[in-house]
Amino acid sequence: MSRIHKLPESLANKIAAGEVVQRPESVVKELVENSLDAGATEVAVVTRNAGKSLIYISDNGSGMSEEDAVISFERHATSKISSQEDLDRIMTLGFRGEALAAIAAVGQIELKTRRAEDELGTLVRVENGQVLDVTKTACEKGTSFAVRNLFFSVPARRKFLKSNATEFKHIVEVMQRFALCYPDVTFTLSDDDSLVLNVRAGSMEDRIRAIYNDQMLNAFLPFESEGEGIKATGYIGKPNFARKSKSDQYLFLNGRYIASKLLSHAVFTGYEHLMDAQSYPPYIIFLEIDPERVDVNVHPTKSEVKFDDESSIYQILQEGTRTTLRQHNLVPAMKMPDGDTGESVIAALRYALPNYDRAEKFPTAPAPSQPQSRGESWGAAPQPRFETPGTSRSSSVSSDVLQQLFGEPRQANAEMAPRPDTVTLDEQNGGAGQGITITPQSRSLDEDSNARVGLWQIHNKYILSQIRSGVMIIDQHVAHERILYEQALSSMESAMPMSQQLLFPLEMKTAPAEYATIRELRNDLMGLGFDLTLEKGERVIIQGVPNDVRPGQEAAILRELLDQYQEYQQMGKTDQRDLIAASFACRAAIKAGDPLSEPEMLDLIEQLFSTSMPYVCPHGRPIVIRIDLAELDRRFGRTS
Ligand code: ADP
Ligand code: MG
Repeated sequence: MSRIHKLPESLANKIAAGEVVQRPESVVKELVENSLDAGATEVAVVTRNAGKSLIYISDNGSGMSEEDAVISFERHATSKISSQEDLDRIMTLGFRGEALAAIAAVGQIELKTRRAEDELGTLVRVENGQVLDVTKTACEKGTSFAVRNLFFSVPARRKFLKSNATEFKHIVEVMQRFALCYPDVTFTLSDDDSLVLNVRAGSMEDRIRAIYNDQMLNAFLPFESEGEGIKATGYIGKPNFARKSKSDQYLFLNGRYIASKLLSHAVFTGYEHLMDAQSYPPYIIFLEIDPERVDVNVHPTKSEVKFDDESSIYQILQEGTRTTLRQHNLVPAMKMPDGDTGESVIAALRYALPNYDRAEKFPTAPAPSQPQSRGESWGAAPQPRFETPGTSRSSSVSSDVLQQLFGEPRQANAEMAPRPDTVTLDEQNGGAGQGITITPQSRSLDEDSNARVGLWQIHNKYILSQIRSGVMIIDQHVAHERILYEQALSSMESAMPMSQQLLFPLEMKTAPAEYATIRELRNDLMGLGFDLTLEKGERVIIQGVPNDVRPGQEAAILRELLDQYQEYQQMGKTDQRDLIAASFACRAAIKAGDPLSEPEMLDLIEQLFSTSMPYVCPHGRPIVIRIDLAELDRRFGRTS
């Protein structure tokens, strides 16, 4: 007997099913695609138990004859192509004839279908890939599939399914994609009796408003770009509406949602410097390309496609984005050079310093004739060149670490210029009209040694400080992020989350996918301090928020947290609590650009150095950069 044999059909189908049907969402996607291919203008989806117990999809499309209804469950049974030429010009969403066979292999199906010309419809029941019975039935024109007990015959796969909230979120996401791609089709989605999505056929604008809200509609600029037989239309987001995740980036090719890193990069680069690397512009772009130039047959779920000329599409998207932004006068802003080498830090310091001419007007400024050769007069510029007028305020800082950091430098004391208590200087250059406030502070850290700390906020972004070994520069945002991250984690782990109740609960209208995410994360969000109630109609009532959320920011922080969470999740990170803590920290932390008072700066530093990891933020970016005196000396050519 030969060792090689053909697998029984039912087993082969189960194996094949693994590629097409990974989770309830895959069934929804395949069946809705079939409905759209059948010309439906109304598609209703009902799920129970996030699709694990039931997925029911009905449409008002063409329907099938009895013969077709039976054969449709066979592998490679399709009405959509019949020749090589057809395969080269795919105009439909499906064409591989696999979906129904695959679903039938792993679920129990009941199909009801009727064509307009038939008086009675057909009912087909299928289980384990086998047609159980075929009967006549009265039904509406169109087709409905009820898929029960998905993976009941493949317990191994059932085990891989995630929580209902997670599985349902996938379903919502796929429905949202269909809804945005087909505004002329009415879609509904309900789960366990709650109506989650309900969008009526209408214009694209109506659709955006229905899925999101008016605000999102205003965030979009109409987009159009064309060339080389490729047409791109749709919307791109205004730069200030950038999101922290890719979840609002939709690219559709000939009516099919596609994922393409390259093409989303094309749009991103079109924004030039208007957007930083961690921001994602929302967009909804429809690409129309001659189907002969596209190969959709490269992936079983067809979410990836191949183009004959990818670089043209790249250019069309990039150029289109640029042109659109330019037309709306959204010109890229100039960026300050940055970097973490001592050299550029010094350059940045010089930039932030009071103008020399201004400084020289101070009566106590050194005479211009004073020799400049030793470098102090401009090299030591952060300490303005005039005598300190009086007393220094003091406060007690207990931490050993602080003492270690801020203790007197071991040498060169004599060369230190005296510092004023507070100097505020406006710098009007740079055109932004924003004054730069430099607030040097003297304070007594340790009464015995009279050690002094100077703290300056530079560009409302970094805190510069003299420390024992040289200077230290702290990124205020990441520093606060580290602090909040650790607080968030411990709040979620404790039985009593720290929450501040709102006097007036806030109502937040969410998009279906957002709502599903909140539902999924609710417990940990509560642990963090968000007191949330979920209401029908995707309304979320915020009753309490974590302590660090600033008034007026409640809904925005929650939203940004969710965006950020999705972003991290897409990067393949998995620990839910950790993700939530990091997301919250990132979004609730003070930002670059927030001015800080001197007590705030000191508070921040104190808290930072009582965290477990003061030097790196939760994503591994540095929080503190130190430049040692030795390094400064070397750069200034001092050899003492
Ligand atoms: P494919 O979509 O790749 O052709 P499927 O297995 O998804 O393969 O479907 C098999 C066939 O069943 C389709 O080609 C179509 O003719 C028919 N069919 C499936 N769903 C519907 C529907 N909702 N309305 C009408 N016909 C359908
Ligand atoms: Mg199909």
